[in-house]
Amino acid sequence: MFALVDCNSFYASCERVFRPDLKGRPVVVLSNNDGCIVAGSPEARGLGVRTGMPLHEARDLIRKHGVAVFSSNYTLYGDMSRRVVATLETLVPQVEMYSIDECFLDLSLFPDHELQPLGQQIRERVARWVGLPVCVGIAPTKTLAKLANSLAKKDAGAGGAVVLNSDARRRGALWQVPVSAVWGVGRRLAGRLEAMDINTAEQLAAADRRLIRKRFSVVQERLVRELNGEPCLTMETQPVPRQQVIHSRSFGDPLVSLPALRQAVSDFTAKAAEKMRQEGLCAGRISLYLRTAPMGKPQQLFPHTASASLSPASLDTRVLSRQAGELLSSLWKPGYRYGKAGVMLTELSPAGQGQASLFASQETTRKEEALMKTLDAINASGKGKVWLAGRGMKREEQSVWAMRRAHLSPAYTTRVEDLPRVY
Ligand SMILES: [Mg+2]
Repeated sequence: MFALVDCNSFYASCERVFRPDLKGRPVVVLSNNDGCIVAGSPEARGLGVRTGMPLHEARDLIRKHGVAVFSSNYTLYGDMSRRVVATLETLVPQVEMYSIDECFLDLSLFPDHELQPLGQQIRERVARWVGLPVCVGIAPTKTLAKLANSLAKKDAGAGGAVVLNSDARRRGALWQVPVSAVWGVGRRLAGRLEAMDINTAEQLAAADRRLIRKRFSVVQERLVRELNGEPCLTMETQPVPRQQVIHSRSFGDPLVSLPALRQAVSDFTAKAAEKMRQEGLCAGRISLYLRTAPMGKPQQLFPHTASASLSPASLDTRVLSRQAGELLSSLWKPGYRYGKAGVMLTELSPAGQGQASLFASQETTRKEEALMKTLDAINASGKGKVWLAGRGMKREEQSVWAMRRAHLSPAYTTRVEDLPRVY
């Protein structure tokens, strides 16, 4: 048996954990640069606030109903997500993090009669230890666990946990679910299935497997099997080796000048390099892309991406930053307004075992690695920050390229100054 644990309205719920005054009040969370709404509490959705709605269109609703508005606080959400996983790991031996707010659990060791109580225990423990509401779906396959979870969310009488541990229960669940809501069925596939008169999960489960395989592929056939309780998907607890590290952001205000862009690119490169070093990797290639702002001149006029190979592969922010700077010089054109930039590191390999280069001695490589380790240690210590002067001397949030985050909540759980105070 598998369980799928999914946090309810994750971003909005995270914002509420340290703001009990927001209980029952509508909450929305905004995209980067506060452009549009990316998440909302059930109360906000009840008012007609939709994901993807530009903030300015929702202004009237927000004012009229006293909706609490937050910029996205990924530091907080990432840490809360980590806490949910750690809590689940105290209850079950195997947890697969599927997305920032969803985990699959392997329940094969639990006897049947313990499944329903376990579902409740998961809800209670996450609520008590982390402060977040979750729903639990339990079933013999991942696809059915996902489906059980959506029923647990919808049906108030289910107590937040739905267990499909018998054929009768499975059938009772399938007919309620439109085929478009089945995990792995996108809009296009749903359209094609509906044209074959397959409108519900029940009809898909009853479909001729061979026909499905012939018309679509083995992936969709697997879906049919999974809906019938035949497990085809297993726990994926081994992280897939990383193919790339990207750091990209849109700017609070579009940038025109080369020096301003240079600072932003220097910062993005440093961020990407730090993330890469955390995983013990070095890069054989660096790419840069730029995007003109929506109101800028059309972007098709000239290439917006450039890349260069690094030989030998490097993890040194100074090397990467110099290379990114050269890429920027080759891409930048005067008179354009740039709204976004991104740095991508690829051809990753484990650090410390790169091929020796004709021009870089082992000694140099060792020194670079030691320097970067020291840099990362200082920046992680919370005592202060060290960065390349190329990023500019201002604090990140004061820079001209900083993101607009006017409604940002504190980093309650990860920055000492932001710890909640109790009076
Ligand atoms: Mg969720």
